[in-house]
Amino acid sequence: MQIGNDIAHAAELIRDGELVAFPTETVYGLGADAFNPEAVAKIFQLKERPAFDPLIVHVSNLDQVKELSKHQDDRISLLADRFWPGPLTIVVEKSEKVSDIVTSGLNTVGIRMPDHTLALQLISEARTPIAAPSANKFGRISPTKAWHVANQLKEVPYILDGGQTSVGIESSVIRLHEDGFVMLRPGAISSAQISEIIPESKISEDDQKLHSPGLIKSHYSPQKPLYIGEIDLDEADLSNAGLIAWGKPGYANRFKKVEYLSPEKRPEEAAIHLFSALHNMEASDVDFIVADPVPEEGIGIAVMDRLRKAAYRHRKTNQ
Ligand code: AMP
Ligand code: MG
Repeated sequence: MQIGNDIAHAAELIRDGELVAFPTETVYGLGADAFNPEAVAKIFQLKERPAFDPLIVHVSNLDQVKELSKHQDDRISLLADRFWPGPLTIVVEKSEKVSDIVTSGLNTVGIRMPDHTLALQLISEARTPIAAPSANKFGRISPTKAWHVANQLKEVPYILDGGQTSVGIESSVIRLHEDGFVMLRPGAISSAQISEIIPESKISEDDQKLHSPGLIKSHYSPQKPLYIGEIDLDEADLSNAGLIAWGKPGYANRFKKVEYLSPEKRPEEAAIHLFSALHNMEASDVDFIVADPVPEEGIGIAVMDRLRKAAYRHRKTNQ
C-alpha cells in the first residue's frame, strides 16, 4: 500500500480495474471504475461488505449522470445547481450500463458529485464515474483521515491523501419519487433545504425502508464498548474510560482521555471531529467510551444518527 498525492497514478490504477482510496468532503471513499463490475467486486471483497449494500457512484460532470440514469429528470439539474458539488446523494432509476453489483440488484443508483478537488480530478482523469463506499471495513468507523484508511484497509494499492475531510460525515441520501423526495439517510444537507427546491414525497415510512437496504441499525462501531447517556457518571469508575464530549463538561477531568467534539457547541464542528474522535478512542488504551449526546438540530441529527449506530451493539437497553 502507498499513500501520496499522485493523481495521474491513481487515475491509471482506476482505469486498470484497481482500487484507490480518495478523499471527499464527507469521508474517504474506496473507489473503482463504476463501469467495471470486476473492479467493483474488489470493493466488496476488501471491505467485507455484504452484497445487499449498494454503492454510491461519484461523478465529476452532469453528462456522467445522464449515462448512469434511465430517464432525464429536470429535478436533478435543479438539485445539482444548488447542492453539487456537495454532500447530497440522489437515488434515481439506473440505466442499463450500471451493473447489478453496484446497486445490489436494485433498479436504482445513488449518484453524487463530491466537493473535493482531488476527488473531482481523479474522476476526470480516470474518465469514468467512480463507485465508492466509505473506505473502512464494513460496520466499522468511517475514515476522515488517510491513516484511518491505512489502519483498516492495508491491502488497498493506493491512498490519495487530502488531509482531514471538511464535512466529516457521510452524504445525505435522497430518493426521487414522482411526487417528490424521501430522505433515506441524514447528512449535512437537510430535508428543509431540499424542500426549497422540490417537495417532500408523501410515500409511507414502511415503503421508504424497503428502498434503502444498506441502512442498518449497527454501523460505524469502535472495537470497544461505546455508551451514550447510559452510564451513571456519579457512580461509575471512569479512570479507564474515554469521553467524547459535547461542549466543555465539568466531569471531563474524571476520564482518562477526552476528545472534544466542539468545545463551543457548534454542530458542524462536531460532525468534522466525530469519526476522528472514535478512531482516536479505538486506538487508545481506554476500556470503554462514553459519548455525550448532541442536540438533534441541523447536522446534529446526522451526528446522533451515526453515534447511535456506533453504540448500537453495546447498548444496555433496547431503546
Ligand atoms: P456508504 O457509501 O458506505 O456511505 O453507503 C452508501 C449508502 O447509500 C448505502 O448503504 C445505502 O443506504 C445508500 N444507497 C446507495 N445506493 C442506493 C440505492 N440505489 N438505493 C437506496 N439507497 C442507496
Ligand atoms: Mg459506509
